[in-house]
Amino acid sequence: MPTAFHNALIQLHKAANIIHLDNSTLAVLEAPKRILTVTIPVRMDNGQIRTFTGYRSQYNNARGPFKGGIRYHWNVTEDEVKALSFWMTMKCATVGIPLGGGKGGIIVNPKELSKRELELLSRGYIQAISHYIGPDQDIPAPDVYTTPEIMGWMLDEYEKTVGHHAPGVITGKPLALGGSAGRGFSTAQGGVYCLQQALKRLGKQAHETTVAIQGFGNAGAHMAHILHDLGFRIVAVSDSKGGVRTHAERLDIPALERHKEVSGSVVGFPDVEVITNESLLELPVDVLIPAALENQITKDNAAHIKAHIIGELANGPTTPEADEILFAHRHLVIPDILMNAGGVTVSYFEQVQNAMGYYWTEAEVLQKLEQIMVDAFTAVWETKDKHSIDMRTAAFVLAVDRVATAMKQRGMV
Ligand code: GLU
Repeated sequence: MPTAFHNALIQLHKAANIIHLDNSTLAVLEAPKRILTVTIPVRMDNGQIRTFTGYRSQYNNARGPFKGGIRYHWNVTEDEVKALSFWMTMKCATVGIPLGGGKGGIIVNPKELSKRELELLSRGYIQAISHYIGPDQDIPAPDVYTTPEIMGWMLDEYEKTVGHHAPGVITGKPLALGGSAGRGFSTAQGGVYCLQQALKRLGKQAHETTVAIQGFGNAGAHMAHILHDLGFRIVAVSDSKGGVRTHAERLDIPALERHKEVSGSVVGFPDVEVITNESLLELPVDVLIPAALENQITKDNAAHIKAHIIGELANGPTTPEADEILFAHRHLVIPDILMNAGGVTVSYFEQVQNAMGYYWTEAEVLQKLEQIMVDAFTAVWETKDKHSIDMRTAAFVLAVDRVATAMKQRGMV
């Protein structure tokens, strides 16, 4: 299987060709500006020291400080973090917010750690990278298996190191520490705005639209909740343990959320068919939402996908080979760097509010988010039509051009 960063470079080159990007700019865009690798010793509850490896990839800061989440996962690699930091660069440029791209990760299964061990690991990671982050330098945030509580510990550790308040160093914080209203569900909400724009152009209503969602974490579960409230028919969802599908009108999402809260998984929910994560992707639905990890839709299953619309709430769920197949079969892929950009957009709002020391209501946040998402969707849609390309390439065409312009105007290239 090609690596995530290999796939990212294919996407970059495809867009670079269309805009005739010069070779020097392309060469700079082919590698991160800096990657930190850190070793974090943690005294575990049994008294022994265990060391963990963490990364922070700072990809590009031509348009603003590096920005992107921190992932805790046993499969984290330097290559993956590098790809994710590249996608953050392109994501911020696609929605036009003044930030660059970065990403962090620690190789760990957080479910195996006690709360105390998790806190020490999070503090240790921030200590290790503290000289390289800051509100004007690099701003971390949550990602897979990291939470507002973890952001709170990280903020506290950073502020102890620098000796003053600096809420803008990290986003996705708890509200009491300067978090933004709406940040918790903003990734999903941004995806909902994108999906509504797509359906509007296809002349389709919510109540006649069936949806399958892969992943029931922060992004997937909030997506399910919001779409359910809007009247969409969510007929299948999954998490890391497996999936469930209903043959009735639609799943009762609030009941499913309560079930997951108690049992830890969507599996075991009554009166449903149990399915695998792989088979969920191939269900006969109108909309498929991959909201888990990378490389889910590949050359092996792309031809079996039946959903007309694929809305990528996860980062990097589709490989470039699968993209070709989906485009040839006339599927509409709303790409990750647009579809899931609501999260980083509200992170940006969080930073703006931190800088002002003045906080907006949820209604204000959502109104501003909708404006940005609708404008970005429209620009990507028009670029797709102009060049007769898929939406991902269109988003990259816009984003690469914006990043390249900033690099040139700085005299970097
Ligand atoms: N981890 C999220 C993403 O992949 C959010 C990043 C952020 O808010 O900085 O977009």
